[in-house]
Amino acid sequence: MRITVVGAGYVGLTTAVCFAHLGNEVMVVEKVQKKVELLKDGRVPFYEPGLEDLLVENLRKGRISFTTQLSEGVEFSDLIFICVGTPQNPDGSADLSQVEEVAKETAKLMNSYKLLVEKSTVPVNTHKLIKRTVERYLKIRGKSMEFDVASNPEFLREGSAVQDFLYPDRIVIGVESQRSREILQELYKDFTCPIIFTDPATSELIKHASNSFLAMKISYINMVADLCEKVGADVRLVAEAMGYDKRIGREFLRAGIGWGGSCFPKDIKAFIRMAEDQGVDFSLLKEVDKINTRRAQQFVDKVKSVIWSLRGKSLAIWGLSFKPNTDDIREAPSLKIIPLLLKEGAFLKLYDPKAMDNFKALYPPGKDLTYAEDMYDAVKDASALLILTEWREFEEADLKKVKELMELPIIVDGRNIYDPKKVRELGIEYYGIGVLNL
Ligand code: NAD
Repeated sequence: MRITVVGAGYVGLTTAVCFAHLGNEVMVVEKVQKKVELLKDGRVPFYEPGLEDLLVENLRKGRISFTTQLSEGVEFSDLIFICVGTPQNPDGSADLSQVEEVAKETAKLMNSYKLLVEKSTVPVNTHKLIKRTVERYLKIRGKSMEFDVASNPEFLREGSAVQDFLYPDRIVIGVESQRSREILQELYKDFTCPIIFTDPATSELIKHASNSFLAMKISYINMVADLCEKVGADVRLVAEAMGYDKRIGREFLRAGIGWGGSCFPKDIKAFIRMAEDQGVDFSLLKEVDKINTRRAQQFVDKVKSVIWSLRGKSLAIWGLSFKPNTDDIREAPSLKIIPLLLKEGAFLKLYDPKAMDNFKALYPPGKDLTYAEDMYDAVKDASALLILTEWREFEEADLKKVKELMELPIIVDGRNIYDPKKVRELGIEYYGIGVLNL
């Protein structure tokens, strides 16, 4: 099929490249010229495992092309995926201006039937606003043309986006017309996972309900972790035992310094706001969000309780991205924890396998903050090592070497990546989250 994808971010580019990989012809419209130049050259502007190889392969096969011009995208195909950003407004609601812009400009350009598909995460009933906008702009052009708006939320995770897109747990499609249903059925016909057809509002709601539920699981286990620390229990075993219960499931029960990223923080706030607008008090989610907000300060308090005063102390930081296998630092816990540590007067040496460039753009190196060559360079002469992201590289680190390089062999592990017993056997003081801290 011929497909147009608007927006070449984590979701849009993955969608485009994967649809091309599955044999479709895809045109990507991206407004940032520099990104388009890189992409035409086979380079992905961010780090996502496997994506660049697939891009190069599909460029070679002539199945994917890039443009800054929406007019070319609208001309190219009847099937247009909207994958632009939906960031957070100051009041917590979703800023839908990028989505509105695509709807408006498409309506100004279209000369035949179009199916606009929302892949961006949007509040329930956004499809109605897209529809109204398209109708208005068609009307002022004096045109009456058939079009549809559908919802097809994306559930991929950064770090495993390609796998998640190609092998999803389920596909959700919200449609209003038989025509749009048939187009999307054809597009997804080779996928073997369950495909759930709904109305657009239900589909839009499924995405927000799913993300908020996952965030709730993490905040829940984080509270259990706090209790474990008080009573001398081990949250890792509590989570493991809970996870074997099929009704609970094993995923998203890892205690730590909280969730971040470009989705959960904004999506949960948008969901709360949406409920409020409808007169529904979803205070459960407000608490989930509050618990998460507290994690950064709690972690810094833990570091202080371990080290005493942080003034003038050299601390090594491993991990800046909001999760492993991505260079994305949007709403990462590191962005909250590092300013708190600097305020306490600590000297920080940071290391992340992929996210250092993004971090440097916000925090250029200076007197109290420097960037390390590698993870061992970061720990040289440090009074403690703080772990903020669970990169595999850190899990596999040579901790004997780490111990030798540090001034004081102390690890405060915000992601529980090590077995406390094994680390302590090496003569390292180890403090995790919700584990027995000796
Ligand atoms: P992103 O910010 O990485 O990418 C958005 C892209 O759209 C940018 O490159 C931007 O320049 C481009 N853009 C904006 N307006 C445009 C226009 N008018 N024409 C052409 N290009 C335009 O965002 P993302 O992380 O890919 O997320 C996109 C949407 O998908 C959001 O709604 C997000 O909540 C949702 N989502 C994200 C993830 C994720 O893991 N990142 C997962 C599921 C859903």
